[in-house]
Amino acid sequence: MLEWMKNVRKVDPYVPGEQPNDSNMIKLNTNENPYPPSPKVINKKLELEKLRLYSDPEVTELVCALADYHGLDKSQVFVGVGSDDVLAMSFMTFFNSDKPVLFPDITYSFYDVWAKLLNIPYETKALDEDFRIVPEDYYVDNGGVVFPNPNAPTSIYMQLDKIRNILDNNRDVVVIVDEAYIDYAGESALSLIDEYDNLLVVRTFSKSRSMAGMRIGYAMGNAELIKALNCVKFSFNSYTMNSLQIVLGVESVKDDEYFKEIIDKVRNTREWFSKELTRLGFTYPESATNFVFATHKSISAKELFEAAKREHIYIRYFDKPRIDNYLRITIGTDEEMRKVVDFLESYI
Ligand SMILES: *Cc1c(COP(=O)(O)O)cnc(C)c1O
Repeated sequence: MLEWMKNVRKVDPYVPGEQPNDSNMIKLNTNENPYPPSPKVINKKLELEKLRLYSDPEVTELVCALADYHGLDKSQVFVGVGSDDVLAMSFMTFFNSDKPVLFPDITYSFYDVWAKLLNIPYETKALDEDFRIVPEDYYVDNGGVVFPNPNAPTSIYMQLDKIRNILDNNRDVVVIVDEAYIDYAGESALSLIDEYDNLLVVRTFSKSRSMAGMRIGYAMGNAELIKALNCVKFSFNSYTMNSLQIVLGVESVKDDEYFKEIIDKVRNTREWFSKELTRLGFTYPESATNFVFATHKSISAKELFEAAKREHIYIRYFDKPRIDNYLRITIGTDEEMRKVVDFLESYI
């Protein structure tokens, strides 16, 4: 080992889904939206000469657009480079206790990566046998709580009364609800932020807003939480959001009609595709997201994953305890899902 290597930080990084460069593929492995962003985003005239200037470090226009959209004050909104950045900042800002941060054993696999990177002690709580979060498991002394609702990759939505129970039993730590898929599900925990000053709700433009490549995420909560996040952000990088993210993010927020329309389309396709999966011998929890988490009664998930890939159909397989016989299939267009059904039908 070379001397300098002793001082190199060693981490096991998060492994994102493949981004293959295959022109005739059906890409259903990273929960992207199959529809383009709003026409307002696509047709926005960009004043690229302005790239000469630094972007607004306060991200004012996008913060205000999101605050208006959600009926909040701008002091209650924080914007970052995708929700991954917002979540990483939140871990850094709020999880500084010696007690462990709690999250489910089966969940977004970035949480333990950030905890390790930032030396945050953590403990996972097992989902029940139906892959549901057990609220009572979180009624113990801890350094903070984080979970997605709906959870990923299980696709299961937890009702608000259970989130309220978790909050009632965790008044002295920050509770983060990662709502990456809430637009496909039910009621948001956003309605609870006035009541619980320790609740942070995190959202993304990557899934329901069709802007994964733009990298925009945001958090909403009590003004004190948002202020603390901004203090950490400004200690790290003042210009996290570039000018194009700000301008195009605002355009997306303006077009609520299109937003609702593509959410409805994905939900309709999901209902149809789920029924087809049942017909083909799959079982799955009822999905409240833009993906289905399915297992087949006789063919292994790994085998199906590999067979699909040979047909240029990319889906997600996790070689992890408890879920290594499940596939996570993103909902694409009707046409794409028809092809997936045809493939599964012929293979099975
Ligand atoms: C996709 C996803 C994110 C990250 O999304 P960004 O693209 O970084 O905004 C965060 N949490 C969950 C649960 C996700 O599925």
